[in-house]
Order: sequence, then structure tokens, then C-alpha cells
Amino acid sequence: MHFKRLSALAFALLLGSIQAVSADKPFIAERTINGMSYYPLYDIVAETGVEHSYNPVARRGKLYRREHQAVYLEDCSVMIIDGKIARAKGPVIRHDNEIMIPSSLFEELFTAFFPDRKLVVTKNGASWSAAERPETPPPSGVPGRKTDTGKKAAEHHAPAAAEKIGFIILDAGHGGKDPGAVGKNKLYEKTVTLSVVKKIRSIISKKNPSIKVYLTRDRDVFVELGGRTAFANRKLTNETGGLFVSIHVNASIVPKMDGFETYFLSQTPSNEDARNTAALENNVILIERPGNKKYYDDVYQTEALMITTQIQKESSDLAEAIQDSLSKKIKTSPSRGVKTADFQVLRGSLMPAVLVETGYITNEKELKLLATGEYQDTIARSVADGIFRFLSSYNSK
Ligand SMILES: [Zn+2]
Repeated sequence: MHFKRLSALAFALLLGSIQAVSADKPFIAERTINGMSYYPLYDIVAETGVEHSYNPVARRGKLYRREHQAVYLEDCSVMIIDGKIARAKGPVIRHDNEIMIPSSLFEELFTAFFPDRKLVVTKNGASWSAAERPETPPPSGVPGRKTDTGKKAAEHHAPAAAEKIGFIILDAGHGGKDPGAVGKNKLYEKTVTLSVVKKIRSIISKKNPSIKVYLTRDRDVFVELGGRTAFANRKLTNETGGLFVSIHVNASIVPKMDGFETYFLSQTPSNEDARNTAALENNVILIERPGNKKYYDDVYQTEALMITTQIQKESSDLAEAIQDSLSKKIKTSPSRGVKTADFQVLRGSLMPAVLVETGYITNEKELKLLATGEYQDTIARSVADGIFRFLSSYNSK
């Protein structure tokens, strides 16, 4: 009796090991495209059974399994996996109309989605233990080969602890068919923001040519809100981080309202003024493509919540640095402080992101100031100083 039970156990173990090496084992073949290694998304979904949804407007997809969630963007080298950012050397691409996930991102995704399974990566592809990991650990002193391989793969692809900020995205609010706020003298917000942004670019480039500066628009054109952050996110790789700074001019039905303020993203607005400012800035969605409104409501609402607390903290630090610097240089208008609000243009950003309201176009005194190159220079210098102050503390960490 005793012997029989033992042999049954031995048989079960033997069967288990046969299954582990049999040809039925799950397997995804790796593909090399332009020297980069990928796994086709189709195979990932088919072989692992994770669920997938895709939004063609944003070219953004989501993967789900139980409580786990991951988001990727086409042409973007980062993926948000369970609220944390995973970075790859190169972006998610579309090749022969198939979405290809960089191997390192798939490995991080698998580790997060299937914590009880072991991924084995070889030069031909990836496979994993189909069964859940036994509750009792394997005999000590003899670590299994699979464990070793999985661990090495994870270490090899671990993202850099603290990458340096390599680029800054300057976003001139509004543009083209969207003038933004309009002043009494027909001064358009879109004109002021573009001018200020170009001034900031030239200051940054002079002071530190090694930092790349990109503008979401460099002329009077219409750019959709979602496209602005997507543009910024596409510049991210596992080696380079970035900052997103959006420049705006405020408006109010109260003519005496004045001052400048800096925002970072939060679902909870600081106060009623912050809520109104966000509503004003988000209005442009109504003149974007018809499908966008629903898309913003449904998808971004969820994704805004996935922004990591780390990005929010860094955004808050960046906002403080810029607001502080504006307060030091501008004495003619009051500082309205750092605030939070739900700005569409900041949602979905995978890097520290802030929005600066440089003044009120509806206030007679500020309207006159905002139209002058001199005042625009002061704003530009202040914003640039704030960015540099943030960078020096960030890069020294
Ligand atoms: Zn605006």
C-alpha cells in the first residue's frame, strides 16, 4: 500500500516533467525586425489567453488578466503595467499590419500578469510552465534551471533606476481653427502661447544644447489634445526621460481676475476656479473629430487613474519650481499658486507634465502685458529657469 502510493506520486512527478518538455508546451516565436527583438501581439494573446482591447483613434491597446492591466501605444517605447512604467529600447511597432511588442516589454508583462509561472526565454522564443507553481518550494540548494533563466531575464531587462531627462516637450496651447481665449483687442491665446514657447526653446537651447527641445506645434496649426501627449510619449525610451510643459493664457467672466498659476493633473480640482480653467481648456474637444469626445470620456478616464504616483509627485515638483520662478520675476501680477485640475492635454502623459496659465487675457492690464514681447520674454525666462531648477534636482538624485 505504502509502496503503491509512492509509485503513484513518482508517476505523477514523471508525468509532470514530461508535460513540461513536451511539444504541447506554450511557445511564442521571437521575431527580429531591424535588429530589435519582438513578439507578435496576436501570438501573445492567443498563447497566454490574456484579454486585449484596442482603440484605433489613439492607436492604444490594453491587455488584461484578472486584476492586472497593461497599456501600450503604437510607436511608444514604454508600457504601463499595473500602474508602473516599463521601458524598452525601441517602440511597439506595426509590421505587416501586425502589432509587435518588444521582447523586454513582453517579459515584464508576463512576469506581472503571471506571477505564479516561470517564463523561459531562449534565442528562438519564449515558453513557460503551464502549471501553477507548486506551493512547496523545490529542494533547497538545487535551484531549478527555469528559475535561474527567468531571474536572469528579469535582471537583464530591468529598467534603469533613474534615467536622465533628455528632452523637453513645449506645448503651445491651441492653434489653427482653435484660437483659445480671445482678448478685447483681438489678441489670441494661440498667438501668445506660440510666441512664448519659441522663446523658451531658444533659452533652453542656448543654456543647455544637450537637452533636446520639441514643440508640439511650431506654427499656427490645429493639433488635437490627445495627439500632443502621444507625441511626447513617443520620444520616451528606456534611456531617455522627458518633461511636458504646456503654455496657456487664462480667461474669466470676471474682468478683474488676474495672475498666473501652474497646474498638474489630478481628478480632484484645487477649487472652483481650477475646475473652470480646466473646463475652458478642455472645450477644444468639441471641435476635434466627432469620435474623440466619447473616446476621451471612456478611455482616458480610466487611464488618467493609471498615472503613477511617482509621475504625479514629479509633476508637482516641476509645477512648484516653475511657479516659484514666475513669482520671483513677475511683480505686476499676483501668483495664484500651484493647483491641480483635470486637463485633457496632461492626461495619459508618461512623464512629468504641467500646464502654465500665464495670465488673464480678460484682464485689461494683463492683456496689454501679454501682447508685448518683453513680458513674453519674462514669462519664457521664468519657465525656463523653473525647468532648469527641476532638472538640477532631478538629475542629481
Ligand atoms: Zn488655453
